[in-house]
Amino acid sequence: MTRPVRARIDLDALTHNLSLARAAAAGSRIMAVIKADAYGHGAVRVARALSQADAFAVASLEEALQLREAGIRQPIVLLDGVFHPDELEQAVTHQLQLVVHCEEQVVWLERFRSGAALSLWLKINTGMNRLGFAPSDATTVWQRLQRLPYMKTGEVRWMSHLACADEVKHPVNDAQLEAFNEVTGFSARLQGKSAERSMANSAALLTRPDMHFDWVRPGIMLYGASPMLPGEPLSVQLRPAMTFESQLMAVHSRRKGDAVGYGLGWSCPEDMPLGIVAVGYGDGYPRHAPNGTPVLVNGLPAPLVSRVSMDMICVDLRGQPHARPGDPVQLWGRGLPVEQIAEHAGTIGYELLCGVTARVPRVYGNG
Ligand SMILES: *Cc1c(COP(=O)(O)O)cnc(C)c1O
Repeated sequence: MTRPVRARIDLDALTHNLSLARAAAAGSRIMAVIKADAYGHGAVRVARALSQADAFAVASLEEALQLREAGIRQPIVLLDGVFHPDELEQAVTHQLQLVVHCEEQVVWLERFRSGAALSLWLKINTGMNRLGFAPSDATTVWQRLQRLPYMKTGEVRWMSHLACADEVKHPVNDAQLEAFNEVTGFSARLQGKSAERSMANSAALLTRPDMHFDWVRPGIMLYGASPMLPGEPLSVQLRPAMTFESQLMAVHSRRKGDAVGYGLGWSCPEDMPLGIVAVGYGDGYPRHAPNGTPVLVNGLPAPLVSRVSMDMICVDLRGQPHARPGDPVQLWGRGLPVEQIAEHAGTIGYELLCGVTARVPRVYGNG
């Protein structure tokens, strides 16, 4: 028997969630965001499962090349553009679409001599204040990009990113939309037609039809986790694509007062059975998960106790004294939303999904 920790990936859940995105944004095309190895799910396998997406988006040239080498033919967008002018040649060769978010990137493009067309996404800072051009610079940059010789056959589109879409009532949402509409409206006057636009992440896809524009960019919802803040309602039934699981590797009877684990910071409140599970922060289980974080043993609650170690966690088996080594354990997934674990651990589902480490085998299946 090998160490039993696994991340099971349900490919049907991915396609189900994609169809929910499609239904919620019926008038838009879908750029499926599969950066960070598809939020820990495995980018190539996810891209194949999501072959109905209109395009994919990743964070780097390396991530895009991995997809091209695996034979993925859909358009691929580099969400941060290139990090160095040397990357431009490969971007053209592999037909990657580039975000342009800063002056340096514009200069690189102006110095670049391309034999082929290039598709660009001009990123506007509408209020997140992280990446993108100020609305007041947008017209000038737009015109500089349009003048690039290889733009005769290429295309410039608009994009912006939302700071607080997970909070439906946050006032910055409307302000960002208004700024985006104002900036992008002028391209229609300039060109006689409107360039394509994109603004919505998963949260805006599900809550703001007025932000859908031509392309929506869902990420987290495709993996079946809620993009909204805890407590915000969700209009669709997403299906978790990843089930993070392992097994009990030992079961002990401990006495009242026995202290357990590194630091001996937790003690048994009474004589009780204690389970040791083969999973730890070395697999991506959050080290900051506190006592009481839900864990399922045999599908039943067995809360976390004591400190999370690199390869092990301890669970309270008072609810099922007959549990034995080898019994199945679920850390999150179907029946135990990753958002719930994230809330206990003071983080978000995104980080937990991305954080499942390379030593955890991904096992792909349907249903
Ligand atoms: C990651 C990312 C997305 C996807 O966001 P989700 O909240 O996962 O839907 C969309 N757009 C950009 C620019 C991103 O970086």
